[in-house]
Amino acid sequence: MTRMTSFSDGTIVPVLGQGTWMIGDDPKTRDAEQASLSRGLDLGLTLIDTAELYGDGRAERLVGEVIQGRRDEVFLVSKIRPEHAGEMTMMLHAEKSLERLGVDRIDLYLLHWESRFPMEEIVAGFEELIDEGMIARWGVSNLDLRAMNRLMEVEGGERCAANQLLYNLGSRGIEFDLLPWSQEQLMPVMAYSPLGRGGLLEHPTLLAVADRHDAAPAQIALAFVLRHEGVIAIPKASSIAHVEANAAALEIKLDPEDIEALDRAFPPPRPHSRSTSSDVVTKADGA
Ligand code: NAP
Repeated sequence: MTRMTSFSDGTIVPVLGQGTWMIGDDPKTRDAEQASLSRGLDLGLTLIDTAELYGDGRAERLVGEVIQGRRDEVFLVSKIRPEHAGEMTMMLHAEKSLERLGVDRIDLYLLHWESRFPMEEIVAGFEELIDEGMIARWGVSNLDLRAMNRLMEVEGGERCAANQLLYNLGSRGIEFDLLPWSQEQLMPVMAYSPLGRGGLLEHPTLLAVADRHDAAPAQIALAFVLRHEGVIAIPKASSIAHVEANAAALEIKLDPEDIEALDRAFPPPRPHSRSTSSDVVTKADGA
């Protein structure tokens, strides 16, 4: 079963994709990582998220190998480092990503986190890449609501297609303001680290809910973030068993009793609590 969502330009993508941080770094695990990504494509997880940052280009290279001969099946997302996003350097770094990925065009190109370059310059740079046919659309990552409001005031800022944000059971800050705002704008949120980098999966409440569904804790964690409209989750898996389990999460529907238990164990953000979007979006990929 594949569930889909759409960008504001009408382009349809699966709500469950695949992440690639920490993939491609170790020659000993490369084959398993490639096999896992390929299996994910077979299962309909055809949105692949990568970045020039990951392994200094090694993740993009590995993705390029996996999608060779399957380019048409894939919705390819990559990210530019903020220090590369100025007018003098953006095109060069986009070209390098295209070369590593072995493609003519990236489907969605994101600013990895806020940059010291003005957003006016970055948006103009992204639009030029679209004009050159190098990217189909652009978006951002790790921008909080204040930064998104500022972006909307920049000429062309409203063409931002998506915001990629930390979102999992243990990090629910975006539910407070950024997620509802993004839904209103019809701007998908790409939930990164949806499994809390694996760190959530031993939690007793998650294990209990998983037990009720005869499911794995990772599947419940994914079903939890995917219960919202306009959310795309991009778990990273480096084994076929994990990617198959993740794909099967699309079958799981959490009931009110599950949500209540999960809310008790992982409280949602509340007005005046410290956990709003502004303190979950400042750091990316440990960089
Ligand atoms: P994650 O997807 O939350 O967790 C990955 C960890 O979960 C890995 O250790 C993986 O193990 C394990 N795992 C995956 N499927 C599992 C399953 N079914 N059962 C048990 N364990 C499972 O963490 P993430 O890699 O940080 O986030 C996902 C992606 O989001 C990244 O790869 C990257 O593409 C993107 N990201 C973006 C940003 C940003 O700033 N924009 C920041 C962080 C991440 P195995 O590898 O052994 O399968």
